[in-house]
Amino acid sequence: METEEKIRLLMSQAVSDREGVGPLADLASGLRAREPLDPINIRSLADRGFGKTRLFRILLTNVCAFSCDYCPMRAGREIPRHALAPSTLADVFLTAHGRGWVSGLFVTTGIPRNPRFAMDRLIELVEILRLRRRYAGYLHAKAVAGAEPEQIDRLADLCDRVSYNLEAACQATLDRVAPEKSFEDGLALLRRVRDRSQALGTRRVGGDPRPPGRAAAAGTTAQFVVGIGSEADRNFLETSHRLWRERALHHPHFAAFRPIEDTPLEGERETPVLRENRLYQADHLLRDYAGAFRPEDLVYGTDGNLPLSRDPKLAWALAHPDRYPVDVATADKETLLRVPGLGPRTVERLLAVRRSIAALDVAGLRKSGAAASRARGFLAWRGRTLGARSIQETLFPPEHFPEPSRVYSFSPGTFR
Ligand code: SF4
Repeated sequence: METEEKIRLLMSQAVSDREGVGPLADLASGLRAREPLDPINIRSLADRGFGKTRLFRILLTNVCAFSCDYCPMRAGREIPRHALAPSTLADVFLTAHGRGWVSGLFVTTGIPRNPRFAMDRLIELVEILRLRRRYAGYLHAKAVAGAEPEQIDRLADLCDRVSYNLEAACQATLDRVAPEKSFEDGLALLRRVRDRSQALGTRRVGGDPRPPGRAAAAGTTAQFVVGIGSEADRNFLETSHRLWRERALHHPHFAAFRPIEDTPLEGERETPVLRENRLYQADHLLRDYAGAFRPEDLVYGTDGNLPLSRDPKLAWALAHPDRYPVDVATADKETLLRVPGLGPRTVERLLAVRRSIAALDVAGLRKSGAAASRARGFLAWRGRTLGARSIQETLFPPEHFPEPSRVYSFSPGTFR
């Protein structure tokens, strides 16, 4: 097969986590995200501290010796298998970069032979880029299960971001569907990247053209496949939030499980993509709302999952009617942050202007950046409510809850 064709195929299969879609993917874009990204897998990524990056996303190889039950690349499954030499991928990426088509690289890989071999090839690629070809731009590599400590350190030294697919939130699920993977080893890997990044401080790895102190400066990400085990949303959020608080995780990715034909999980039900989006919304509340929400505060069903029909913030508000209306003139920041329709920036704006305004109405609310029609029914100004509540009971019609479940040949969104 020609290199060009291999590249097209390996790019189209590297659609795993949501890097490039953004942790705040709204419901509509989340629904679109299930579509294949062929032929060219380039996405825009906006990240604090790194600006906007057009990511060239590719697999170094789709050959894998592991047999994860949910994966289209599992050993023994009949698909065309290809591998790129690290030097070839470096050439192709740098050509695209030189022409201004892309500004960063996300590279992931199957596990040909064994984890040590797979990591050595990844490291060879990043060493060619950083040390030989003097590439100083954004570089994100996904470490594989079974990576050795010194390999993790090397990747962290040379990349802006290192990620890892935890897949599950407990070992019991991995034992069932990915027995070659260890949950504890995955946690240890993420913590090691954090420690390495902190230890490197302002020192510089010899030959790395980036400014000092850039080792894994963009932090780590980790992906969970939602629906391959018995974990509830609450378990995913508790695990990811714990890692985030430890600074071992910059943000999580959630991928709704899709059954792949000719795999052991072919007959399982697919997970509604809306569940994935509810998890992103909840994670946003946990990380970006200044401590106003904790995993244990959110509203879950008896199965431990977030309600699909309402976003987690609205669900929280409706479960606490005694807390509303909130008076904008006097409420503290945390209380305002819990109002549906008010985001962190809007709350900052309201806090900044409330002393200098005589009154606040729906138009003023809208001007401050609020989703006014949603927020007004939960707010008051000096004792007078701002309006009636208008709550959509069901945000999505039933066709967004797959019934019956489909079977996929290659799943965009679930894999490396
Ligand atoms: S999930 Fe990763 S390790 Fe498991 S079979 Fe797929 S590519 Fe291999």
